[in-house]
Amino acid sequence: MSSNQQPKIVRRQSTRIYVGHIPIGDGAPIAVQSMTNTRTTDVEKTVNQIKALERVGVDLVRVSVPTMDAAQAFKLIKQQVSVPLIADIHFDYRIALKVAEYGVDCLRINPGNIGKADRIRAVVDCARDRNIPIRIGVNAGSLEKDIQEKYGEPTPQAIVESALRHVDILDKLNFDQFKVSVKASDVFTAVEAYRLLAKQIKQPLHLGITEAGGARSGAVKSAIGLGMLLAEGIGDTLRVSLAADPTEEVKVGFDILQSLRIRARGINFIACPTCSRQEFDVISTVNALEQRLEDIITPMDVSIIGCVVNGPGEALASTLGVAGGSQKSGFYEDGERVGRIDNDKMIQELEAKIRAKAQLLANRITAKEIV
Ligand code: SF4
Repeated sequence: MSSNQQPKIVRRQSTRIYVGHIPIGDGAPIAVQSMTNTRTTDVEKTVNQIKALERVGVDLVRVSVPTMDAAQAFKLIKQQVSVPLIADIHFDYRIALKVAEYGVDCLRINPGNIGKADRIRAVVDCARDRNIPIRIGVNAGSLEKDIQEKYGEPTPQAIVESALRHVDILDKLNFDQFKVSVKASDVFTAVEAYRLLAKQIKQPLHLGITEAGGARSGAVKSAIGLGMLLAEGIGDTLRVSLAADPTEEVKVGFDILQSLRIRARGINFIACPTCSRQEFDVISTVNALEQRLEDIITPMDVSIIGCVVNGPGEALASTLGVAGGSQKSGFYEDGERVGRIDNDKMIQELEAKIRAKAQLLANRITAKEIV
């Protein structure tokens, strides 16, 4: 099925909030988020990790701020990075007030966990005064005791009931600048919870399958869970939770969005699984190019196919493509066969051609924006 025959995803209507300069909801591009896993008090390491996340295109970064020392570190971190930061705070409302003073872009705090009403009001008033949105984040693993007892297990209904309690608190305080997540490690539970919640509130939803797993299994679980929701139009931001380097979370996040043709960043490689017909080493070529071209952000489809069985067809439908041939492979650009590439120079030649094309497309996009 070609891209223009694909069913159009109709996004769920939601309100709009801004996390720093990033718009969330109401049709804004789905934002890709990650979270640092360094000690927040180690400012240098945390800043370096946030910068690595920025290089792979992250839109929002969450940093946990468990103590007042971490809040002081947060102040220094915030001064050294440009991507909007979300502070993850549990229970201690004073930390929320502190990071607000230090310029936090979003508070991830559940109002129901803050305690007394005057403390909740203090945090919400501060968020309102400073234009800081809140993210309510409910996890299946940490539901309130009475909800656990009522439902017996963390069902989708139980998770949503917990989320709506926090939402009610903000509603009563007339605060609507928030987004909500209802995460579970079980794909079906999380998906159903999001579906239920999507019908009950108008705010943006932050998607995630929590504690999804290691790099491979977590990516698969997230792709299935988030993919089901995104295909239904549900979700305004997302995080792929992996027990791996956080930059992997961002790459998988973009891959999920790219697979659904929701949002593209960088090169979408189309490669065959290879077999004895391949005329050059497809797998090592794709791996090498993925690494070498990580810095390219211009969206483009590049097909790398080992022989003429599927090569020309895929190449004709891609921005650039090669179809394996003996010694030399056919090279295609914008749906036309334009030359050949020596198989033993495949990686270097393709890298150069992809870079040149990315530059050309980027210039065209800029020219259009100027017009
Ligand atoms: Fe094998 Fe050719 Fe198919 Fe690749 S495209 S898997 S090389 S038959």
